Amino acid sequence: MSTFKFDTVIIGGGIGGLMAAYRLRKLNPEMKIAITEKGNSLEERSCPANKEKKCVHCKICSITNGFAGAGAFSDGKFNLGTSYGGTLGEELGDDVAIKYIDEVDEILNMYCTSGAPVMYKSNEELKLKCLQNNLRLLDMNVKHLGTDNNFLTMKNLIEAIKSSGTELYKFYDCLSIKKTHDGYSLEYANGEVFYSKYIIIATGRSGAGFVSKFCNDNNVKMKSNHVDIGVRVEMKDIIWREFSSKIYEPKILYKTKTFEDRCRMFCFNQGGLVSAENNRGIITANGHSFAQKDKKTDNCNFAILSSIRFTEPFNQPTEYAESISSLANMIGNGNVLVQRFGDLIRGRRTNEHRLAQNTVIPTLRATAGDISLCLPHRILTNIIETIYALDKVAPGTANDDTLLYGCESKYYSIRPVFMNNKFELIDNIYIVGDGSGICRGLSQSGAMGIYVADCISGNA
Ligand SMILES: Cc1cc2nc3c(=O)[nH]c(=O)nc-3n(C[C@H](O)[C@H](O)[C@H](O)COP(=O)(O)OP(=O)(O)OC[C@H]3O[C@@H](n4cnc5c(N)ncnc54)[C@H](O)[C@@H]3O)c2cc1C
Repeated sequence: MSTFKFDTVIIGGGIGGLMAAYRLRKLNPEMKIAITEKGNSLEERSCPANKEKKCVHCKICSITNGFAGAGAFSDGKFNLGTSYGGTLGEELGDDVAIKYIDEVDEILNMYCTSGAPVMYKSNEELKLKCLQNNLRLLDMNVKHLGTDNNFLTMKNLIEAIKSSGTELYKFYDCLSIKKTHDGYSLEYANGEVFYSKYIIIATGRSGAGFVSKFCNDNNVKMKSNHVDIGVRVEMKDIIWREFSSKIYEPKILYKTKTFEDRCRMFCFNQGGLVSAENNRGIITANGHSFAQKDKKTDNCNFAILSSIRFTEPFNQPTEYAESISSLANMIGNGNVLVQRFGDLIRGRRTNEHRLAQNTVIPTLRATAGDISLCLPHRILTNIIETIYALDKVAPGTANDDTLLYGCESKYYSIRPVFMNNKFELIDNIYIVGDGSGICRGLSQSGAMGIYVADCISGNA
């Protein structure tokens, strides 16, 4: 066992942790900084599902864990505003949050070396079309790098951080943090112990368990938050082309008729692929797309999620969402389920035969089945109503051959109560990114990383 002493240790090498490291180094050339990451280096991250076409339940999921974090193989859509992608604007004020989001953009521009990203501006005509159909189109400027360009940009950024003297440790799964007389010790699953004055927790969504354990151990209160549960929807790309060609990523809100719940369509992938991700042993659906034309598919995909906010006494929203996804895995023999919309409406399961006849060819090998057996009635009703509402602005969305993959969920449940507006949990321990319960995307997670680095450096 070896021990190392640092001024700042960042736990987690996603965009939140990377941006924090980048800014700390800029402001503190002499600072001894380490990023410790549970997963592999970016170049060595590889998902067996790319070959096997199905999730093989790796102990450490290469899609969500490793340097560059959950965004490594993402579509690289950077939301240049605060309308969605988190609540950093509410926490810091829109002007300050946008200033930091712009700084993330500037840094990425420096390392984006394989072609100019595409910018998509908001569109009044589509906004009106949606409003006329009880739908609210969220508008914001979006910069799209594409999976391949995003990967290279992150690789360049990591190289720059490394060559600036920051130490990068892969396969360092932090188990606990303990107080010492002059700082903190960090214990890792591989037996190593690091010491540091400052710690930035940047463990993302996959580190939810780590954050809640830290908060429990240190009497940091947690606010119960909400979960979003639903499905990944896949159809022919042409159906949403009017939107995707003008704004690239339609993000649409709908208030459902039966329950007046909020449902949202988001994470749109033009010419994309549906993917499976392993969240603590539970396999859920997601999606991405490549910028390169030869890697495009004939399909597009997006998530439709129903938001649920729990009230007292229930305080385990993440576990609730995980139970629903586990149920889908149980029915799907350890895999995500896929069902044709037409079968769902007719109350029958999709079987391999019907799937083979489908005009929409699935881009993920999932288990043909019946999602109505695992999604609660209220959530299922919300999803069906949203699909019919979306069909009014993009006819064809509610086609029989539209595919629904279950389940997809997003949890933001662990929302610690911070000591101050520097996102400090206890003395000199800060939290950034998705793991804070504030961010839900790349731009805001990166922005929060830079902001906290400024706070530590006395620059905020
Ligand atoms: C398939 C997919 C596509 C996406 N597409 C987009 C998109 O196009 N645009 C967008 O804005 N957002 C997208 N997102 C969301 C985006 O990736 C996240 O919001 C963002 O990555 C959050 O950054 P983060 O640094 O907070 O956390 P993460 O990126 O999750 O990084 C956290 C890191 O911490 C590590 N870690 C966790 N626990 C520990 C521990 N105990 N010890 C050490 N390390 C630990 C993890 O291995 C991980 O690498 C996508 C997400 C996925 C999964």
